[in-house]
Amino acid sequence: MSLAEKLAEERRARLAAERLLELKQAELSAANRKLGRHALALTKQIGQTQAEVATVRDENAKVKSDLSTAHAKVETAERRLWHSIQAFQDGFAFFDADSRLIGANTAYLNIFDGLEEVSPGITYMRILQLLTDEGLINTGEVPPADWREMMNDRWHSPSPAPVVVQLWDERYLRLIDQRGHGGDVVTLALDITSTVRYEKELRASRARAEAANRAKSAFLANMSHEIRTPMNGVVGMAELLCDTQLDEEQRLYASTIKNSGEALLVIINDVLDYSKIEADKLELHPEEFDLERSLHEVVMLLQPTARDKGLALLVDYDLFLPTRFVGDPGRIRQVLTNLAGNAVKFTKEGHVTLRVTGITSPDDKQCTVHISIEDSGIGIPAEKLEHIFGEFNQVEDERNRKFEGTGLGLAISKRLIELMGGEIWVDSDEGKGSCFGFRLPLPIEGPAEQPVPELPSTLRHVLIVDDMPLNCGILQKHLLMLGIQVTAADSAAAALAAMQDSIDLVISGHNLPELNGLQLARDLKSGRWSGVPVLLLNSSPHAGNDPEIRQLVNGVLQNPVLRADLFSQLARLSGSAPGPDGDAAEQAAPEPPAAAGAVARPGPPAAAAPEPPGRPAGPEARRVRVLAAEDNKTNQLVFSKMVKELNIELEFANNGLEAVEVFKTFHPDLIFMDISMPMMDGKEATAQIRRIEAVSGGHVPVIALTAHAMAGDSEGILAAGLDHYLTKPLRKALIHEKIRAFAPPETQPLDLDGPPAEAAAGGG
Ligand code: ADP
Repeated sequence: MSLAEKLAEERRARLAAERLLELKQAELSAANRKLGRHALALTKQIGQTQAEVATVRDENAKVKSDLSTAHAKVETAERRLWHSIQAFQDGFAFFDADSRLIGANTAYLNIFDGLEEVSPGITYMRILQLLTDEGLINTGEVPPADWREMMNDRWHSPSPAPVVVQLWDERYLRLIDQRGHGGDVVTLALDITSTVRYEKELRASRARAEAANRAKSAFLANMSHEIRTPMNGVVGMAELLCDTQLDEEQRLYASTIKNSGEALLVIINDVLDYSKIEADKLELHPEEFDLERSLHEVVMLLQPTARDKGLALLVDYDLFLPTRFVGDPGRIRQVLTNLAGNAVKFTKEGHVTLRVTGITSPDDKQCTVHISIEDSGIGIPAEKLEHIFGEFNQVEDERNRKFEGTGLGLAISKRLIELMGGEIWVDSDEGKGSCFGFRLPLPIEGPAEQPVPELPSTLRHVLIVDDMPLNCGILQKHLLMLGIQVTAADSAAAALAAMQDSIDLVISGHNLPELNGLQLARDLKSGRWSGVPVLLLNSSPHAGNDPEIRQLVNGVLQNPVLRADLFSQLARLSGSAPGPDGDAAEQAAPEPPAAAGAVARPGPPAAAAPEPPGRPAGPEARRVRVLAAEDNKTNQLVFSKMVKELNIELEFANNGLEAVEVFKTFHPDLIFMDISMPMMDGKEATAQIRRIEAVSGGHVPVIALTAHAMAGDSEGILAAGLDHYLTKPLRKALIHEKIRAFAPPETQPLDLDGPPAEAAAGGG
């Protein structure tokens, strides 16, 4: 190879090397630049991290200081808490889940009277052991081991019930233990010594108060007996005196004695009732009863007063409302008597209307009965309306003072209605009249709707004759509801003019102006309308017994009319020819008011059963034997005088023991038994008689004569085996009624001379 070639080759190699170098240099500087950028980024990052580290360091310092502040606070709080817990009068302790004491305040530790063993770490079981072993606790009748077991069981229950323990020094502690989530237990030992002492005192004074209250009730019961016994003599003798030959002045004196005595008894009853309600001693005696009849009984009692004042006393009993309910009929009658009695008392002219409606529950089991008593009397000023339901509150001013009363009636009525779950209210317009209303929820007995009997299709058109539109308005309404056409006339003359062929029945009031109802009947009978039956409306319960009335009309409806009476008369009369026997009168005659508290109970009829005619009276027949057990001589005399006109054999017994003896030898048909008697009371005597009968057979009716008007009496009396009871003062009519009801058929007639005296003649 030539040099030139060698040189050229060398040159080329050098050139190549130079290019490579350049290339490498370029790469190097690119790498350098990249490195530079990296370094810059790294420096930045480092700067940032350094800043962050500085912040964290700052924060750390702050957290540290916060923590120590918090620590300090916790310590303060804990100190305060302990301080407070220490300050408690009551014991406080913590236990851990293993029932070991963590801590306790001084009050808790004091229970242990300085026992050093009671300190943190001691178990609850050991504490119980110390309490019993050291005599720190009074376990009473319970043996210490049993007590510990009981307390231990309680301790381990999930939520122990508080327990009261007594310490050796008579202090009482209530232990309340609360188990936390982790099993820790917080224990409180509350010192309730003063509460227990107070409760004891309270119990003692309550027992004393109850004893005093019982003594008061017993005193009232006794007083009622003591006052009623002589009153029985006074009222009974006055009643007998009224039956004798007296001149006018003497009659006035005698009847005043009788009326005043009866008024006094009403007041005594009011005061008694009120005291019983006050002492929460008044009990209701719910039983099945007939509301419509109860209402009529009240009306019958008030009818004589209303008639004397010329007031119309009306009853509007919803035609379709049931009549049989379950309630306390005595108390309902009492409220009705008070409200209706007030209405009659405070009304000079016009009317008193008792309205009864009701809403039956969807299941037909219960009815909310709504009774209102509306009058057209003096009314009550608006500002006095609230006041009159209070005790002894009367609308007292000059015009009111002439009215008698205790001012207790409405207060008693309100309490009674509320006791029965009802409500009472009043609306009044002074000078125009008042309306008292009450609402009572009563369970329905029997059908939820009054069954209206099928009336004969012959009854389509009735003529009602009365001069007082109010009197016959309700009757008219009921007939219209039954689908009967009604024509009204306000006098006999108008009635005669209104007569027409379509009229099937005439219902006439008795006292019409000019021609009265009887004369109208006579005119009708003697003329063209002789075939149309006539019903007489009369407010007297005795009209149906008058032979002249029975001769002239086809029946007597007692006003206010009981729906059942109306239905039965309509069914009986429509289409039937008039007859002179007039047996309708008997059907329409109401039951006498059960003023003497005849007790509803299966057995012989309590009502006055008219003596059946034609009782066999052969010479061999014996007289009815009546035994009366009564310790009071005056009452014996009253009783014997009251039954003097009856043909009976009467024996007296002076006490219960005698009554049992006389029963064995005399074999009475009927016994009147006083309840309160010396030696042996009437209940015990009756119980003995019933025991004798259990062996010998038979059941003589025993009628209790009771002076106690206390609730619950009737039950005790019936439980002792008595059949009925009469409340003193005795009523001649009621005594006669009972004797007639129970006279055996084979005995001589009770009335030797002539027909029986009218049942209610002496009733008052
Ligand atoms: P008493 O009738 O024995 O005075 P009540 O408590 O029954 O007591 O009645 C309180 C008062 O309410 C009566 O004195 C009378 O002023 C008034 N009062 C009650 N009912 C009526 C009424 N129907 N009309 C007018 N005032 C009445």
